Amino acid sequence: MNINLAIIQGAKVLKDNSIHNSYLDSEILMSKVIEKDRKYILLNSDRYLDNRDLNSFQKLIKKRSLGKPIAYLTNKKFFWDSEFLVSDDTLIPRPDTELIVEKVLELTAHKKKISILEIGVGTGCILLSILKEKKNFYGTGIDISKNCLNVSKLNAIKLKVSSNLKLYKSDVDKFNLGKYDLIISNPPYIKKKKLKYLEKDVAKFEPKLALDGGLDGLSEIRKVIKKSSELIKKGGKFVLEIGFDQKNIVISLLKKEGFYIKSINKDLAHNDRCIVCTKI
Ligand code: GLN
Repeated sequence: MNINLAIIQGAKVLKDNSIHNSYLDSEILMSKVIEKDRKYILLNSDRYLDNRDLNSFQKLIKKRSLGKPIAYLTNKKFFWDSEFLVSDDTLIPRPDTELIVEKVLELTAHKKKISILEIGVGTGCILLSILKEKKNFYGTGIDISKNCLNVSKLNAIKLKVSSNLKLYKSDVDKFNLGKYDLIISNPPYIKKKKLKYLEKDVAKFEPKLALDGGLDGLSEIRKVIKKSSELIKKGGKFVLEIGFDQKNIVISLLKKEGFYIKSINKDLAHNDRCIVCTKI
């Protein structure tokens, strides 16, 4: 079978299983299997596909038809300015989270050298994107998942920022190292009961550890705020991603821990998503 026909058949399977963008997804999976880019596929659509590649391709189509996100099938996702490795253990980087990078770059436009802590690094997409832009900044990342740390370490090598980065496996409660000019976090903030109502791809395949915010959705946010208040320098900035309906409660938690609210920023869907505050 040639490449073109395999892609068309793959797209049909995806479409029959209600996967949007079925043709594009089929093309992306073909590109993964034959290790060539889209341009190659367009120019070589009549190339014959050997049985081994056809088999691997059909296996990927099967997985996608069951809802597994493309990023977990290709093991990569573009975020800010780079392509990041992802694994089944990491949350897939979201475009909405790029807001944190944007805000941090605004806040630090005139800073030469600062130290940053990220609580819950996952793939490392936020912290590493910042370190790539700011060669003299120093980053520390913690995560409770060893597997996520392995992925963020590989991403740091890929983005050539390893020399400015230290990673630790730690629970947020137990981490007590250093004082930071800037702390960032995108903690799990979905209410436990709401997890099963997330989009099917998310609910079935993304790590609960990165999404589950306990009964009220705030259990990790509370810990992150408390720890940040201890580890941040006076006058330091704290940038936090929150759920669309958590603005008011999180503001009151932040105020109690001595933070002054600088701005609340909306994501691409106009939901309150990112709070910037200063430790006073
Ligand atoms: N924004 C993610 C979602 O909607 C949740 C990320 C998180 O809990 N930190 O799936």
